[in-house]
Amino acid sequence: MGQKLNRQVVGSLVACVHCGMCTESCHYVLANPGDPTYAPAYKADRIRKLFKRHFDWTGRIFPWWVKAGSIFTDEELEELKDIVFGKCTNCRRCSLNCPMGVDLATFNRMARGLLVSVGVMPEGVAVVSKDQWEIGNQMGVLKEDYIETLEWMDEELQDELGVPGPLIPIDRPDCDVVYSINPREVKYDPRSIADAAKIFHVAGENWTMPSEGWDMTNFGLFSGDDDLGGSVAKRLYEKVIELRGKKLVISECGHGYRSTRCEGPNWAKFDVPYEMESSVLTMLRYIKEGRIKVDKTRNSKSVTFHDSCNNARSCGLFEEPRELLNLVVTDFREMHPNRAENYCCTGGGGAMSMSEYTPRRLKSAKIKAEQLKATGAEVVVTSCHNCVDGLADLIRHYKLDMEVTQLVNLVADALVIEEKAAVPAAPEELPLSGWKLVVADDEPDQVTFLATVFEDHGAKVFQAVNGDEALETARREKPHLLTLDLAMPGRDVGEVFEMLRKDEQLNGMKICVITGRPELRKLIYDRSVKPPEGYLDKPVTEETLLLTARKVLEVPHKA
Ligand code: SF4
Ligand code: SF4
Repeated sequence: MGQKLNRQVVGSLVACVHCGMCTESCHYVLANPGDPTYAPAYKADRIRKLFKRHFDWTGRIFPWWVKAGSIFTDEELEELKDIVFGKCTNCRRCSLNCPMGVDLATFNRMARGLLVSVGVMPEGVAVVSKDQWEIGNQMGVLKEDYIETLEWMDEELQDELGVPGPLIPIDRPDCDVVYSINPREVKYDPRSIADAAKIFHVAGENWTMPSEGWDMTNFGLFSGDDDLGGSVAKRLYEKVIELRGKKLVISECGHGYRSTRCEGPNWAKFDVPYEMESSVLTMLRYIKEGRIKVDKTRNSKSVTFHDSCNNARSCGLFEEPRELLNLVVTDFREMHPNRAENYCCTGGGGAMSMSEYTPRRLKSAKIKAEQLKATGAEVVVTSCHNCVDGLADLIRHYKLDMEVTQLVNLVADALVIEEKAAVPAAPEELPLSGWKLVVADDEPDQVTFLATVFEDHGAKVFQAVNGDEALETARREKPHLLTLDLAMPGRDVGEVFEMLRKDEQLNGMKICVITGRPELRKLIYDRSVKPPEGYLDKPVTEETLLLTARKVLEVPHKA
């Protein structure tokens, strides 16, 4: 703790006067009325007592008077872990209402770092940190998979625009823009990469993506591990220097933007010699400079905007996303409260990786669900991949009739492409002709949707509604691809997955997980068999379903 104390942290540790004005700011408090253990000041005091005991003279002389105390047992360590990881998303909303300027999130992060330094943390935090240390990105995406995904999106874009590639240049030196992304885009949302590439291409940008050090997210912000934070940030900074890039553009991710642009130089003790910019500002600039033209009537659904805590409250990105939204959609409505006052998506602070706290997280999401519902909007837009996952999860849980998307998707959809680059009328094609598929899902609507999309594109489709049927149908039909829901009745789906993987008759069968329960991923990914070739979060669209199926099946592109 002595190494982590600075003026900002100490100021917050000593300033609280227990007025209680911060209490109602916290989404955990609002979801758990009558439980004082969720109050920001209570949580802060559990950390503050350590500071008082070891660093404040009052606590060393009169510990009983100022409620100072140390930690001696595993139970006390576990209690602290439960508070700092499981009862606070470091959203910083409570600090807005504190007359003393106490910033709980700052020293909550410090307390997380202390626990991590002695090996006490939720399992998800350990796994993600390990991946970012060892593989270089927090989702463990291998370099070959990253490059393959960029090449796949490049080919799709060439098909769409009818121009020769490469449209996603990799490691091109001396570019005006080096574009860095969140590994979630590679693993679960490659369309965001293609959409960004389309915008760069139409804007005539001289840009590139790095082959290594490309992850702009940073789990050090969530785990409190400054060494991890510094190491991750430095990899990206140095790669841009190696490529002689003039500007680093950071795709839409709240904690990635905050870590890379604001905190990373301090963690890494690195003087970054080039400009860093959020892609939201880049897209807005392209429109204002006339480098791209947009037609807002192409996005006619009603849209609201969720401010990511890191982008908005911590980095001041309030007006630019709204200005951009108003240029690319016809019906934008504010959510209330908004901007700095907005509530956390409840998946922040790394909460999406801590599955043990999922019920508590979803319960605390009630206020966010009510906020979303009150807008009456069909779509919620956010500039953060973490918020996309958090919001999608609470939308499913509270059964809201709403989809989540990002600005890059809306800008790409609204792009007006000059005639010369327009797609020539393509002949009728059935890209999945000749492929045999099994779709396994217990929701009748979902299984019908999946089957219809695949059949409309030429595939022969068989359906299964539980784990046993999936196993039996796959063994009988030996399909090229099986789509697998993770939450079906009957035999445990993790077990079904492992049996399918170990069945030598099904060696060539690809598997794509399609789930509305991301916390169940470990049922599959923790097994010592080959992971699935594809993964999609529900709700899936026809476009993402086909893109993923074609990628997994390696369906050749049009000549
Ligand atoms: S930082 Fe956010 S989650 Fe944590 S106590 Fe404050 S309001 Fe609650
Ligand atoms: S508002 Fe500030 S001073 Fe009052 S209880 Fe909360 S943290 Fe303490």
